[in-house]
Amino acid sequence: AGSDAIALDPLERALEQSLRPERLADFIGQRELKAQLEVLLEAARGRGETPDHLLFAGPPGLGKTSLAFIIARELGTGVRVTSGPALQRIGDLASLLADLHGGEVLFIDEIHRLPRAVEELLYGAMEDFRVDLVLGKGPGARSVRLDVPRFTLVGATTRVGLISAPLRDRFGYHYRLDYYGDDELVAVVERAARTLSVPIEPDAALEIARRSRGTPRLANRLLRRVRDYAEVRGDGAIDRELALEALDLFGVDVLGLDRVDLEILRVLCVQFPGRPVGLSTLAVAVRENAGTLEEVYEPFLIQRGLIVRTPRGRMPTPRAYVHLGLDAPVEASS
Ligand code: ADP
Repeated sequence: AGSDAIALDPLERALEQSLRPERLADFIGQRELKAQLEVLLEAARGRGETPDHLLFAGPPGLGKTSLAFIIARELGTGVRVTSGPALQRIGDLASLLADLHGGEVLFIDEIHRLPRAVEELLYGAMEDFRVDLVLGKGPGARSVRLDVPRFTLVGATTRVGLISAPLRDRFGYHYRLDYYGDDELVAVVERAARTLSVPIEPDAALEIARRSRGTPRLANRLLRRVRDYAEVRGDGAIDRELALEALDLFGVDVLGLDRVDLEILRVLCVQFPGRPVGLSTLAVAVRENAGTLEEVYEPFLIQRGLIVRTPRGRMPTPRAYVHLGLDAPVEASS
């Protein structure tokens, strides 16, 4: 957390909850994923079994948590929500598992942040629906076997590279979510506008979509800022002109780049022009965690054609110079 792209306060969590799609059919875009899930869930329902455990990877705000809720809903069951950082001790996980109702979905966000011992306890629960706990220490220690009701684990991670192979292998289904296209984000904005009862014109929705970094969470967030502006400076309705004014007021970059993205580009184009920059150097220069840079910022900047990753480091593209209003050095544009 800490960065603009992923920070989420409790109020926003509540707002998000109200905008969350409830059924698979309401989940916008990601057609391949939805088609696969439909089959997987229907087959499990047909057999009267729980589906395989599912792992979703990808940058924040693309719908991983929403999918866990949708899966539970489509299975007609409940969902327990927790995260890697919240399960720091074996006892935390054991009591959660003991408390599950049969068939429920257990959602673990940031599953790459489970401590090793907790992760190992999870293996048995995932595979055999039982865990072996060691109570006490030394000669008096004894092992207790705990049966766990059948459940479906939905794991989410922004850092699939940090998931250990044994954990990864225990998921029967993996999917890597990718950034959304503008058309899909327009649909996200229009859907949220309907939920919030805000009238919005299609070309206004497109301006918001374009600045949303391919991320539904940010599309919803920008819509709320534009809605504020429309209520205060207009009559509540959102047309293109008003949307542009609002986005300008809130300093939203035309490509949706945030402070860290722009700093990365400035470091590459101004501080080290024409030279490849290593991840750790870049992290220090923009005062951001190297992992977050690699998993959150870089994929987006690469996808937008603003930077490239070379074996010797990151390089800006001519497009990055243009975006910053700079002339590209000769080497970089060749
Ligand atoms: P993640 O868990 O990947 O960080 P979330 O599932 O919390 O992302 O999604 C953030 C918000 O974005 C949700 O509350 C929801 O409103 C919206 N959202 C995400 N994906 C979609 C989608 N495919 N269709 C509609 N809304 C979506």
